[in-house]
Amino acid sequence: MTSGADLRERFAAALMPNYGVPPLALTLGRGCEVYDADGRQYLDLIAGIAVSTLGHGHPALVKAVAHQAATLAHTSNLFVNERAVQLAERLVGLVGGDAKVFFANSGTEANEAALKLVKRAAGPDRRTFVAATAGFHGRTFGALALTGKESIREPFGPYGMDVRFVPHGDIDALTEAVDETCVAVFTEPTQGEAGVVPAPEGYLAAVRSLCDETGAAFVLDEIQSGIGRTGRWFAHQAEDVRPDVLTLAKGLGGGLPIGACVGFGRYADAFGKGDHGSTFGGNPVACAASLAVLDTIESEGLLAHTAVMGDLLAEQLDAVDHPLLAGQRGSGLWRALVLTGPHAAHVQEQAAARGFLVNAVAPGTIRLAPPLVITPEQIGVFIEALPTVLDAAEAAATKENQS
Ligand code: PLP
Repeated sequence: MTSGADLRERFAAALMPNYGVPPLALTLGRGCEVYDADGRQYLDLIAGIAVSTLGHGHPALVKAVAHQAATLAHTSNLFVNERAVQLAERLVGLVGGDAKVFFANSGTEANEAALKLVKRAAGPDRRTFVAATAGFHGRTFGALALTGKESIREPFGPYGMDVRFVPHGDIDALTEAVDETCVAVFTEPTQGEAGVVPAPEGYLAAVRSLCDETGAAFVLDEIQSGIGRTGRWFAHQAEDVRPDVLTLAKGLGGGLPIGACVGFGRYADAFGKGDHGSTFGGNPVACAASLAVLDTIESEGLLAHTAVMGDLLAEQLDAVDHPLLAGQRGSGLWRALVLTGPHAAHVQEQAAARGFLVNAVAPGTIRLAPPLVITPEQIGVFIEALPTVLDAAEAAATKENQS
């Protein structure tokens, strides 16, 4: 078998350096466990960045993908395929009706579709977009223009788009920014890439009413928060607020690439024929995977399970007393460990050394987004090891500072 070191070396030689060279090469996944190229086992507490909803190798997903690949793997959008129709119908049911779906292949593409959709609906006179400081909507040009994090956005500008950024959750700043010149407000319910930062309760309702007052569209990016991650199908259902456009990806495919842009009301039919498209969007294999994900979430009661496991994880994290841990935040199985210093990279490394995959999402923040099928026992194993991981991270940080 090829070793991890060998794979990393070949990665560095053959792939562009935009990701650096990832520290581990993964070769196998079973449930919440993954294995690296050298046979080491890890508890997966990040699930491919909130993607592997059902864990790895779930029989329902494997069966659906294998069956669809053997039946008809691709049609393009020149032809109707039943899986895309079924999945769109399912999503419309889950969001509460009066909606239609466009399928893309990733989160950023779902947001590109949303951008074009709201621009189409707004007409030529509205030009301004409102988005959140520290927000993240993807790496393609339109989604990047709306991405608040300057270090990601600025090197690639200018974008030819007028975007006003407001602090996430700041209703006064939002009220100042949204007016009749606005095409849309783009927001996440909780900012994932910023470190699982929720907006205060009532923020989504404020976005809704400002959009109603000014005629701007409310686009809610649930690419990371959607499909059960918070213990509900969609995070916004906690507040009973309906956006005009909802974007989804990540957990929707359970590991297969798919994105969706859902338009409600007049946004359901805002695209005319020929306005947008994607060769792979709605691909039958990706849609079959997604249907298996939705079916399994239902049949295994994973929304309730996520809520219960999320509470358990939060409770047990709150009980960890360590000088490096300031606290935790988040909802469902989507949590941030807030550190007392900028040592997240060390925590990630020391966790991996002890068999846990976590994500240093920001210098002082660790993100956890495990598969929704995680068990209380698995959570317990991680919590038991956490103080040792934090001790080792602190020691590594001290050593680094001294050298
Ligand atoms: N929107 C949000 C909220 C995300 O978290 C991400 C990815 O992290 C994206 C959009 C972009 O998704 P993708 O990487 O699939 O293009």
